Amino acid sequence: ARTESAVYAAKRAGRSRTHVHAGGGPDGRAVLEGLQRGEFEVHYQPIVDPRTGRTTAAEALVRWRTPEGGLVPPSDFLPDAERSGVIVQLGAWVLRTACSAAATWTADGSEDAVPYLTVNASGPELQDPTYWRTVHDALAATGLPAERLVLELVESHYDIESLHLANNLHQIRQLGVRTALDDFGTGYSSLDRLRRSGVDILKIDKSFTDDITSETSEAPLVLAILAMGKALGLRVVAEGVETRAQAAWLVAHGCDAAQGWFFGRPAPHLERATASGRSDGPTRIAVQ
Ligand code: C2E
Ligand code: MG
Ligand code: MG
Ligand code: MG
Repeated sequence: ARTESAVYAAKRAGRSRTHVHAGGGPDGRAVLEGLQRGEFEVHYQPIVDPRTGRTTAAEALVRWRTPEGGLVPPSDFLPDAERSGVIVQLGAWVLRTACSAAATWTADGSEDAVPYLTVNASGPELQDPTYWRTVHDALAATGLPAERLVLELVESHYDIESLHLANNLHQIRQLGVRTALDDFGTGYSSLDRLRRSGVDILKIDKSFTDDITSETSEAPLVLAILAMGKALGLRVVAEGVETRAQAAWLVAHGCDAAQGWFFGRPAPHLERATASGRSDGPTRIAVQ
């Protein structure tokens, strides 16, 4: 398998399959031009209650649709977008587009809450002095209630002693928007930083979920994260659930939020999950 840096090297040399523009690699400028040409799309992946299969949230994930019709994943253009700062414009577009979509979502069942939306925010966005205003404006323009938006951050962002970041998080929370710690367990987290981060949600990285049902498993770690989340009053979401066995394990151990191909893949419109982790439960749930 090609590593991310190998993809990069190929791109620099102009050999990548994602080299979509003759004469220039997909650097920050190409991303900006693609954005101006309307080539980006937001896809939505359901986050479900694995016990019932009900969709409780969805994550917005950006993709680049090339003129040839191919779909370029974020790993192929986000590094350029982040390094060049173009992620600030791209992220603002993603936020506006996703909030607009989420404002139209309805509850999965009559007694269920309307799914909330999660949007990834990267380092340069969080350090942009006006990011909180971008969030405010996206909510104001689309009418999405702040309570239905969650911003996903990765742990390394908390390494940065940035006044802008601190102010952005403060202002965003003042608006009523929640935050989640993405890819939890992969950074060098300290419990102190977790406590001070002020996040409402932890997302257990796929690398832990992958292994929960195997002999030499990460199960004890996942159990510890679930227990810690409960003790701290944090919602815990397991990422990257691909199999029924993983889903069933999560149900058996009291995890009430999960995301992964087993439940549903990212799609251009939110598709409600069609599976639950209960062996005795429904395997297909009504789709909207
Ligand atoms: P992430 O936020 O951790 O998102 C989860 C990634 O795992 C997504 O990859 C999703 O498609 C993938 N995934 C979900 N379930 C499964 C599964 O069961 N198996 C496998 N193998 N993969 C699964 P994707 O869409 O390629 O995005 C990669 C990363 O790019 C995201 O990781 C996030 O860090 C970043 N990203 C995506 N969209 C945006 C965006 O709009 N803004 C920013 N700043 N970052 C974004
Ligand atoms: Mg995420
Ligand atoms: Mg993640
Ligand atoms: Mg990730």
